[in-house]
Amino acid sequence: MEPHPQIAANLGRVRQRIAAAAERRGRCAADIKLVAVTKYVSADLGRQLAIAGCADLGESRPQELWSKAETLAKWQVRWHLVGHLQRNKVDRTLPLVSLIHSVDSLRLAEAIDQSATKLGRRIAVLIEVNVSGDRAKHGFAATEIQRILPQLAKLDHLEIRGLMAMASPEGDLAAARRQFAALRELRDGLRSVAPPTIQLAELSMGMSADFEIAIEEGATIVRVGSALFEDLPKI
Ligand SMILES: *Cc1c(COP(=O)(O)O)cnc(C)c1O
Repeated sequence: MEPHPQIAANLGRVRQRIAAAAERRGRCAADIKLVAVTKYVSADLGRQLAIAGCADLGESRPQELWSKAETLAKWQVRWHLVGHLQRNKVDRTLPLVSLIHSVDSLRLAEAIDQSATKLGRRIAVLIEVNVSGDRAKHGFAATEIQRILPQLAKLDHLEIRGLMAMASPEGDLAAARRQFAALRELRDGLRSVAPPTIQLAELSMGMSADFEIAIEEGATIVRVGSALFEDLPKI
């Protein structure tokens, strides 16, 4: 099937930018996963992205993820939840997702573990860190995480793969770079003290405005929305 030409072109351009940023740091572009955040667009444009070769799709709202996952059930899509998950939405979300980027409290981690135990599955998650210190944002304070790692390690149906963060939204790219570097340093420090069952290989950071900086600072997953949907004819 032919992909949507504008979606394919946008995806190609974003992938080139990812590759160029990786190359600047001597990194391999294949080590950086692109999650296409489809929250601004229809399920059909999500499907077009999958056809064009990006099968990792992300949503920030659980209900929207449920609805698009249902619409695209026949397609091979790996769904990522990148936004806040309320505990009463865990049961319905888990069967649909391949990675939850946004574990932002111990109570949520426990709820996911319980629900995953019922499902008989381990669920891959990232721990969200509030690197900007913005009180309106979700996520653990960087200083909190080491203390809760032993508690997280007891949740044996959680597979903790790494950390996630959002840079402060003011468009200050120097601040974004500092925050991404801080997340990487936090991860490096935690690795040496984390219980052996906790893997911290992944760093999910970087969105349309700052994904190249995030890659230069060590991102292994970037979450890109608007840059993939530029110049689409209104439909
Ligand atoms: C919306 C969203 C993105 C993508 O944002 P763009 O700026 O459109 O690329 C990434 N991560 C999260 C958590 C989001 O909510």
